[in-house]
Amino acid sequence: MGVTRSDRPPATPASLSPGAGRLPAPEVCELRDERLDRAGVTLLLVRDDLVDPELPGNKWRKLKYNLAAAREQGFGTLLTFGGAYSNHLRAVAAAGRRHGLRTVGIVRGEQHLPLNPSLAYAAAQGMTLAYLDRDTYRRKHTDAVLAELRRTWGDCYVIPEGGSNALAVRGCAELPTEIEVDFDVLCCPVGTGGTLAGLAGGLTGTQTALGVAVLKGAGFLADEVTELQREAFGAPTGNWRIGLDHHFGGYAKRTPRLDAFVADFHRRHGLALDPVYTGKLLAALFDLAEQGAFRPGTRLAAVITGSAPLDAPYGGA
Ligand SMILES: *Cc1c(COP(=O)(O)O)cnc(C)c1O
Repeated sequence: MGVTRSDRPPATPASLSPGAGRLPAPEVCELRDERLDRAGVTLLLVRDDLVDPELPGNKWRKLKYNLAAAREQGFGTLLTFGGAYSNHLRAVAAAGRRHGLRTVGIVRGEQHLPLNPSLAYAAAQGMTLAYLDRDTYRRKHTDAVLAELRRTWGDCYVIPEGGSNALAVRGCAELPTEIEVDFDVLCCPVGTGGTLAGLAGGLTGTQTALGVAVLKGAGFLADEVTELQREAFGAPTGNWRIGLDHHFGGYAKRTPRLDAFVADFHRRHGLALDPVYTGKLLAALFDLAEQGAFRPGTRLAAVITGSAPLDAPYGGA
């Protein structure tokens, strides 16, 4: 998953307007489960998925300061990238509509009609969709491709695929400050790493962050998170790590074991985890707890970052 960054310098912290589009703090609840009791571990769920019906929590946090920067720098159009089932494209479309900015979504691959539910939603929010062949899409972050996109779409504020840049990281760093309950380890799923980079940056004292990679072969993500933290905070924070063993076959792939975990979790707790992100996160935390990876007494807080992309074709991506 390539990380493209906006080629505009990020706004300085002083010019950020934290009041913009403030959402209520996420609800936190303790999950009671005998498997956790046996491991002596407490697990809190941070329901960032419930803060807004249209914008999954982490996507909104990642967009917040980018929207402010776009407006301050006088842009009327946001341009961003995503696959055909991207939560990020949907979120940008909804945010643009809400904040009066035109949005252009550059979709990987060819157009397929009728639009799938994700893209239909984005289009209904007013997003203009355009398609890039896979080869050009891979080079979307190069000056040549960006210049071509600007020739076509005008001078746009460019948000990278997945929405991860320094301003996104700063938005995510606010989440830990909204949690009013004590915890030791803050846990989240990792796609591009922007959310983890931010969450870790917002921790205090001896708190640490644990990310669970949802893609296979994701060893490169540690470098991405380090680089994003350098851009956002000046230096990496050194208080996080990424688990690479719970991708269940790769991005949007699933296995019978993952499906069984998600179904069992729903039966026990009445919460339908999505198999792309939060299902893998919780499966990892339960495995690690049962393996004794957490010292008894550890208080974990798992961020429910959002839900699955609409109607994603699981099993291939
Ligand atoms: C996009 C997304 C993630 C991944 O966030 P990154 O910042 O790309 O690592 C996690 N959970 C949900 C629900 C998402 O939509």
